[in-house]
Amino acid sequence: MTATTLDGRAMGKEIRAELREEVQNYKQVRGQAPGLVIVRVGGDAASGVYSKAILRIATDIGVEARLEQLPESASPDDLRSLLLHLNQDQAVQGIIVQMPLPSHLSQKMVADTIAPEKDIDGISPQSAGNLFLGVPSFLPSTAAAVMEILERTRTPLAGKQAVVIGRSNVVGKPLSIMLLQKNATVTVCHSRTENLAAVTRRADILVAAVGRANMVTAEMVRSGAIVIDVGINALPEGGIVGDVDFASVREVAGAVTPTPGGVGPLTNVLLLKQCIQAAWYQIGGRSSS
Ligand code: NDP
Repeated sequence: MTATTLDGRAMGKEIRAELREEVQNYKQVRGQAPGLVIVRVGGDAASGVYSKAILRIATDIGVEARLEQLPESASPDDLRSLLLHLNQDQAVQGIIVQMPLPSHLSQKMVADTIAPEKDIDGISPQSAGNLFLGVPSFLPSTAAAVMEILERTRTPLAGKQAVVIGRSNVVGKPLSIMLLQKNATVTVCHSRTENLAAVTRRADILVAAVGRANMVTAEMVRSGAIVIDVGINALPEGGIVGDVDFASVREVAGAVTPTPGGVGPLTNVLLLKQCIQAAWYQIGGRSSS
């Protein structure tokens, strides 16, 4: 049996259509579109591509988005004053800061400075704390994208064994809490996990968020498991692959996300979804999405 391929691009298209409608509803109530600002300090070509991808989706669904580019040499005060200014700006409902920052700038300062109600990528201590406590909050968008795939494919989670490989603050850790909230029995693996394959073979739902090309092979996957590949790995010979060895795993799994074309295309869409939710919260309304 060959696994079903979970098509992130098709799901992204479907969600964008929903968001377009949601933006129209919001505009009717507020008289203007939700506003999003991407802050970038210096940055390489890859982060430029990432900013452009977000701006493209924003334009497609009708969110007013712009890039605030600071020079590589920007001081902590320059960045902090820009964020404080955006916190006050009534036309801005969501703020994201592109990571990584130049080494003289602190990610913690950014997380502590962005107003929690505009923190649409869920990086602030308040968002993380709310997630931990089970209070509605903004979620790190990649982890939210994984949950969206599971939800849209109606994957049963309650009582199931979910194994997450990776425990970063942006993906593995928040995702494990989200899965727990959906009543999955969650195991989190990391670089010190012993006998990884024995743990992953127990998974009904297996998520790989590591950053090691093709590390999850068929022998590590239980027959019929749902496998979600978060990893994005550039190969020295060119091309991008995930953490999951798609060719072998699809012979065993029930469903698997491809890379590219799986989680990646959904991450930015989920970021925009949270920007629209932020906009509704800020005017005391409720989003229907
Ligand atoms: P991090 O490097 O922050 O975390 C990687 C995690 O993998 C760590 O918890 C680490 O363990 C664990 N790990 C490393 N080696 C092993 C191993 N041999 N066995 C088991 N666990 C291991 O990465 P991120 O969470 O930021 O990202 C993970 C991947 O997802 C990357 O490829 C990244 O490019 C991709 N990504 C994709 C996004 C998307 O939109 N699709 C967005 C964000 C990230 P330990 O904690 O012990 O070091």
